[in-house]
Amino acid sequence: MKLHRGSLKLAGLYLAILLSISLFFSATLYQTSIGELERGLRRPTPVLDNPIGPGFSEGIRRQIIDERQQQYNEARRNIINKLLITNLLILIGGGALSYYLALRTLRPIEEAHEAQSRFTADASHELRTPITSMRTENEVALMDPKLSLKEAKQQLQSNIEELEKLTSLVEGLLRFAQIDNAKLQTTTISADSIVTLAVDRALPRAEKRGILITTKITAKNAVISGDQVALTEALLTIIDNAVKYSPEKSEVTVTLSRQQKNIVFTVKDKGAGIKASELPHIFERFYRADSSRTKQHVDGYGLGLAIAKSIVDAHRGQLTATSVLNKGSTFVMTVPAAKSASA
Ligand code: ADP
Repeated sequence: MKLHRGSLKLAGLYLAILLSISLFFSATLYQTSIGELERGLRRPTPVLDNPIGPGFSEGIRRQIIDERQQQYNEARRNIINKLLITNLLILIGGGALSYYLALRTLRPIEEAHEAQSRFTADASHELRTPITSMRTENEVALMDPKLSLKEAKQQLQSNIEELEKLTSLVEGLLRFAQIDNAKLQTTTISADSIVTLAVDRALPRAEKRGILITTKITAKNAVISGDQVALTEALLTIIDNAVKYSPEKSEVTVTLSRQQKNIVFTVKDKGAGIKASELPHIFERFYRADSSRTKQHVDGYGLGLAIAKSIVDAHRGQLTATSVLNKGSTFVMTVPAAKSASA
């Protein structure tokens, strides 16, 4: 509603500018045309004014002068009518055009506003769910007069687990704010350091599940101008997902290569894969594929890939995914190479 009012106001402003220009030109045109007409009217006419000429009678002279005055009046009316019609058309056409342009101008703002509202609603929902479940569990435990010390400890343990999840959710939300505010620390970094750092951090979780992470670096000495912490975080999210959504004892391959002016990080897994219908949504905030929510019971809030994509976007890069259900997925993170990079 507010935005609709905004569109009308903006359209009004556009129209006012358009009409001011049109009225200014109309007034100038009117002045020039009337000036020309009046000059024509006052121009001496040898036949009428020459005393030794054909000698028109005073009556005929008056008649000719009256006719000329009438022609002048008619021409003036014509000019005024045409200018009025032109301005009326500009008012109608310009009004429609102004409204269309105002809508177009405000559409990105409206979309950003809608996305922000959706994000706030989703974040509130995700925060409320564990808080509600924790509260209910605690109330039930408190009402139990025979609650043993062991059961109380179990309840506290469950609370801590929920709080850990909440902490990771809040950290994820804060991460968005940091990336959105472009607080990235840009330096020249070697691309293979990002691979090494991310793989090192993913190894403990991979080892726990007997998953082998293989790295292939074909772009030695490649450098990127960017935020090392953020890019490592983005790659780590992708590798972590590959580990999370793969069966035990499978293999994940991380490749670093160079394609023309870009540095390409590829993460390939032989895991659950993603349905073609879900693939376009996995980079949306809070999106989790059905199978991750239900079948696999893997923890997460659907924020990881959205954060990774924001980081890659902030580096003017691209993050894409291809996948075959039950066969595996390939994530490709591409960022522009720094000027001094050599393959
Ligand atoms: P989550 O916290 O759920 O892992 P992400 O944003 O990291 O959130 O991922 C979004 C969804 O994309 C996941 O819930 C999962 O369904 C799907 N997904 C991401 N990576 C993979 C992968 N390597 N294999 C299969 N599914 C994946």
